[in-house]
Amino acid sequence: MMKIVVIKGDGIGPEVIDETLKILDRVGRFEYEFIDMGGCSIDKTGEALTKEALDTAKAADAVLLGAVGGPKWDNGKVRPEDGLLAIRKGLGVYANLRPSVLYEELKDACPLKDTVVKNGVDMLIVRELTGGIYFGEKGRSSDEAYDVERYSEAEIIRILRKAAEAALRRKRHVTVVDKANILESSRLWRSVSSAFFRGYPQLEVDYMYVDNAAMQLIKDPSRFDVIVTSNMFGDILSDEASMLTGSIGMLPSASLGDGGKGLYEPIHGSAPDIAGTGLANPIASILSAAMMLEYSFDMKHESDMIVNAVRKFLSDGHRTRDLTSSPEYVTTAEAGSLIAGNIGKYKA
Ligand code: NAD
Repeated sequence: MMKIVVIKGDGIGPEVIDETLKILDRVGRFEYEFIDMGGCSIDKTGEALTKEALDTAKAADAVLLGAVGGPKWDNGKVRPEDGLLAIRKGLGVYANLRPSVLYEELKDACPLKDTVVKNGVDMLIVRELTGGIYFGEKGRSSDEAYDVERYSEAEIIRILRKAAEAALRRKRHVTVVDKANILESSRLWRSVSSAFFRGYPQLEVDYMYVDNAAMQLIKDPSRFDVIVTSNMFGDILSDEASMLTGSIGMLPSASLGDGGKGLYEPIHGSAPDIAGTGLANPIASILSAAMMLEYSFDMKHESDMIVNAVRKFLSDGHRTRDLTSSPEYVTTAEAGSLIAGNIGKYKA
């Protein structure tokens, strides 16, 4: 039986995870082990993630995370987010996958005109997560500062492989985003990519400068299938792409390393402003579990069942409060129960 380490975390984390477990229980049998991370762990142990908890996470087949953080811990010596960096590093997850899908039912929530999104938005950004300028050498003197962007061929190849594998499951189109007209590191990305993708003749591959990519995401988002890019470019472009889909409460993510293991979490935080009120949208967390089934457990059918159940929930007109301006909305727990009730009943 697959073993999932579950981290509920802080704020709305426990609320969205509880609904996600309802859904998982409808599609299969899994073994759960619960660990603390973030503020709740600081309160109990003084650490955002204990070594024991990390070891438990490392021994699992996958890790499902709600969210961590909150004002209570903002001024402490140890921050809840320290747990996030520690678990990503500890699990060796170097590829961050963020799908941006605009569901037909939520078209009104997209800030772009209907004419621009008429062909839909369904892309996956594959962001390198543990290298590049965020991890390079940095320095500061009285009137100067620098951060170094450095990539090795091996780091580029392993993220390209994740992008290629994802594209083979999707529309078989990869866009490599860089700034090869200016940056030496980008020129390495480009030469490594063109050699790498010769091994994938089934894939259509194109190359785009990051400034153009930022523009094309707004001008013609349906032209993208899989985007693969460096840490900083991916950070910026994935936030831009997430806005195309309506609410932050809709967006899941997967962070993958070598082998099948992964860390799955909604892209939103712990939303302390709405914690405990039943206003949290659990869909980002539920779709993160769907990604876990697809990427770590090879359970694409069950993963599709979850996605279809979410779509049915939306097409039936149900909305959590973040998705509607109407006073009629469902609570976090009602949303979870309705989606769980849709499991197995519908096909896309
Ligand atoms: P946030 O994502 O928690 O909230 C931003 C806004 O979006 C808030 O108005 C919130 O109510 C709303 N929102 C977020 N998720 C929602 C959902 N599922 N349904 C409905 N509305 C939702 O970001 P923030 O306010 O900048 O950060 C709050 C805390 O979360 C901070 O302590 C931050 O450090 C932490 N954080 C954690 C993670 C993580 O655990 N991966 C990520 C981002 C922020």
